[in-house]
Amino acid sequence: MQRAARTLADGATIEGDVAVIGSGPLGVVVALELGRAGLQVVLLESGERRPSAEAQALGALVGEDPYHVPMDLAVRRQIGGTSNTWGGRCVPFDPVDFDERPWSSGFWPMPYEEIAPYLQRACDWCLCGRAIFSAHDLPELSGRTLIPGLEDGRVISSALERWSLPTNFRLMYGSELRRTACIDLVTGLTCTRIALSADASTIDHLVCRSRFGATAHVKAKVYVVATGGLEATRLLFASNDRQPQGIGNQTGHLGRWYMAHVQTRAARLCLTRASEGVIYDHERDRDGVYVRRRFTFARDWQHERGLANAAMWLVNPELADPRHGSAILSMVYLLLRSPAGARFIAEGIRRDHLRSEEEPRVGSHLRNVAGGMLPAARFGLTFGYRRYLRRGRKVPGFFVPSTSSSYLVMYHGEHLSHWESCVEPTTELDALGMPRLRTHLHFSRADIGNAKMGLENLDEYLREQRVGRVEMRDPDIDTFIRRSLHATGGYHQTGTTRMSEDPEGGVVDGNLAVHGVGDLFIASTSTFPSSSQANPTLTGIAFAVRLADQLRHRLA
Ligand SMILES: Cc1cc2nc3c(=O)[nH]c(=O)nc-3n(C[C@H](O)[C@H](O)[C@H](O)COP(=O)(O)OP(=O)(O)OC[C@H]3O[C@@H](n4cnc5c(N)ncnc54)[C@H](O)[C@@H]3O)c2cc1C
Repeated sequence: MQRAARTLADGATIEGDVAVIGSGPLGVVVALELGRAGLQVVLLESGERRPSAEAQALGALVGEDPYHVPMDLAVRRQIGGTSNTWGGRCVPFDPVDFDERPWSSGFWPMPYEEIAPYLQRACDWCLCGRAIFSAHDLPELSGRTLIPGLEDGRVISSALERWSLPTNFRLMYGSELRRTACIDLVTGLTCTRIALSADASTIDHLVCRSRFGATAHVKAKVYVVATGGLEATRLLFASNDRQPQGIGNQTGHLGRWYMAHVQTRAARLCLTRASEGVIYDHERDRDGVYVRRRFTFARDWQHERGLANAAMWLVNPELADPRHGSAILSMVYLLLRSPAGARFIAEGIRRDHLRSEEEPRVGSHLRNVAGGMLPAARFGLTFGYRRYLRRGRKVPGFFVPSTSSSYLVMYHGEHLSHWESCVEPTTELDALGMPRLRTHLHFSRADIGNAKMGLENLDEYLREQRVGRVEMRDPDIDTFIRRSLHATGGYHQTGTTRMSEDPEGGVVDGNLAVHGVGDLFIASTSTFPSSSQANPTLTGIAFAVRLADQLRHRLA
């Protein structure tokens, strides 16, 4: 069932077997996995069905961090959480992420094999098909290679990303949440503090407040914080009456090790021969799921070279630069710049597409469009239908083949974990009295060096295979890469409640239980000790499924 916090009497107590805080993808998965098994679940959601400026404002950050976007772009406070705006790209973390690597301080307290069995269920929740992430393992795709003649070796070009619908967890699972009798979804209710028992080894209750003034207490046998990466961290900081540094922060790891991704379009891939037969665009597997090929580096080779994990793929030229000469790209650019632009795409992604260091050149874009009206109109109709009008699975994007056989490369790499890359509570409070956070996202020289080395290694391999080369876009590539990291952090929030074998090394253990507090669990990508090349949500959901299984056994 679903009820709004404003219908609660002030001082109400809500009880259940499990309290799940936050109804984003991870919270929905934990709640429904347990609710389907007949456990009484209280699911608390700070937002409501629709987004509101007041709810969004609760998460605003303090101060300026050049590498971080405002939280309004990075999260959504409403049922379904940030899945109301996410892209839907589903990629699992790789076995190499779980290996011990001397150049990374992100140690996982478990091997990859521990989480791999949960990936199919995570894919099912995201509706992104079979948990198969190599074109070699899909007969319908295995007959071709990304570039004709390019075989897998130390560079792998058969790695796949999968795309969900994109699955909005509010639209997809909202009615089941409402229909399931043993789920009590309370909207508009924010957990502002986790109250520990006198000896601080268990939770006594949750303190919750609505924006309309009511206070409520929640009591359960176990508690799951699923409020998103930074909000999980913030809630632990705010719960400081028995542990002044915040719950789980005895060894100072809470808020530390904040990671995003190192992403840059710093290089071009130039093919040796004309681009016929190159697979740049999305393909569909036999289930109709959109997949896309990407370049990755072999596990052994990463160890040999001491490389951070990375993926790379071909992208369109920068929309904002009319020198691409494409009527389609210019039309999309003008559309995204127009007042209607925000309707088509998440604001963060829109800003990224419009990004340019030069003054907008609207006249040149209009000339491009005028020179190719017919193909642009044809594209507008077919893409518009496949992306926005068609029911069900939406095409994730589009790709305009280059006439010069040269393509921009997107490098999306692991951000190494750094102690100084952190978030901290401030003395500024939100409307419900919770301390706001300040972020200090830090990218080291090693992070920049890894991106450069990754692109150089791709270059070396393509030349050896005689299919192409990689050209850097700027002679001062380090500065270029660093500049491209500005305002990219915050979309993928990892590290700040890091998982570790013992309390000396982090905040939660391998089962996501906060060290020393037996009934408090964190279902969030913030528990990840390293950031991988992969977007984090699919792996986060795999951990949420695993946690739900464990809680079901515990409470049976
Ligand atoms: C534009 C954009 C594109 C993205 N694209 C991708 C992608 O393609 N692939 C990918 O893997 N990831 C992507 N992400 C990231 C992805 O959306 C997140 O990783 C994912 O939503 C995290 O899920 P979550 O359940 O942990 O948190 P969230 O989705 O953030 O949900 C947390 C929920 O908790 C609620 N909440 C917060 N605090 C409280 C509180 N104190 N009390 C009660 N409720 C609370 C919030 O209102 C929210 O509903 C994208 C993000 C953005 C912004």
